[in-house]
Amino acid sequence: MPLLLLFFIGYSYAARNTVVEGIRYSSYESHTRVVIDLKGPVEFNQNRIHDPDRVFFDLKNTSLSRKIKKAFSVNDNAIKKVRVAQFKKDMVRVVFDLNKIKNFYAFILEKPSRLVIDVYPQKGNKPIKNQKQKKKTVIKGKSYEIKTVVIDPGHGGKDPGAVGPRGLREKDITLSVGKKLGKILKQKHGMKVLYTRKRDKFIPLNERTELANGNKADLFISVHVNASKQRSVRGIETYFLNWTNENQAMKVAARENGIPLWKMKKMKGGLQMILQDLARSNKKEESMRLAHSVQSSMVNTLKKKYRKIEDLGVKYALFYVLVGAEMPSILVEISFISNREEERLLSGDRYKTRIAEAIASGIGSYIMEKALVASPDMKHREVSFTESPVSVEGPAALLSNVKSSDGY
Ligand SMILES: [Zn+2]
Repeated sequence: MPLLLLFFIGYSYAARNTVVEGIRYSSYESHTRVVIDLKGPVEFNQNRIHDPDRVFFDLKNTSLSRKIKKAFSVNDNAIKKVRVAQFKKDMVRVVFDLNKIKNFYAFILEKPSRLVIDVYPQKGNKPIKNQKQKKKTVIKGKSYEIKTVVIDPGHGGKDPGAVGPRGLREKDITLSVGKKLGKILKQKHGMKVLYTRKRDKFIPLNERTELANGNKADLFISVHVNASKQRSVRGIETYFLNWTNENQAMKVAARENGIPLWKMKKMKGGLQMILQDLARSNKKEESMRLAHSVQSSMVNTLKKKYRKIEDLGVKYALFYVLVGAEMPSILVEISFISNREEERLLSGDRYKTRIAEAIASGIGSYIMEKALVASPDMKHREVSFTESPVSVEGPAALLSNVKSSDGY
């Protein structure tokens, strides 16, 4: 069998010091999927070598997270073992020791960035049974586990929030919807739920995210009700944190921040730190994805029951309450309290329950999307790399017998 050399450069993005954060795999009957989680875009080379049969992937301008496990056994019908090391100062190498395989495909997915490799075994391969392989390795990848959600019912105490034409107060609606949402997330999704407030109490904006950060929460959901001077304005919108010059979004943020609009417009100068942090981290992308998932769930669910539901979309603005959140965070404006019809709906229990259910299912699909690179119809075996390494194999081990067109 001739030496099969495969070589290609994946993608045109250039990245510097992209962190390789984790590796997980899922075994299917037809193939094995390995997912390499990355902190940003990456270019890679791949190569296959025989005797013993293996493939490796060199990830350019990358460094290996310290938490990562350097080697682990897969022992299914396609892959025996996966090894990873900081092969060069600016290059991480991932090696698969193979069973008899037909072929493999590697591709990049974004948001979050990951390199996905599907390895197809030859027919008739039998998985190697390894009695030593305990269930201990069957742990969900840590970065994909969403355990704790902080629900932040807007306003409270001396701050009533917006008040409707018939006197309905935003702070009461947000508390009611927040509690309903928490209950659903706990019961249906098995999540740990924390509230920034569970009663009619004033909580400063910064303390709300501090609670989330302090508890290492995985998501932050701030619930609000919108208001407009124009009584005819109605609809649902979801926000994530970013700077905007768009007047309408600024107005909403100014109101929720409790500052005048002119002040809001002057703020950008003092925001460089926040904006830089947002640009660096993937929180903005994650928050945006969460926002889209929740917004479309709210709109689609409610439209079935209420003809006049308006989709105002996903937007961004500078909301103080989201500043400094170390996790994906959104602010939902569930309806307009200033609109008579929506105020009437908000005053009843059923509408609020439906909104809470819709937000919860939006959160649910966000988590599903995040966790499932692979199709959900198969047994999932995911390896956590926060365990202490079973064996540490350095670059030398990875280099042995490796010859490629690159000379590595
Ligand atoms: Zn509000």
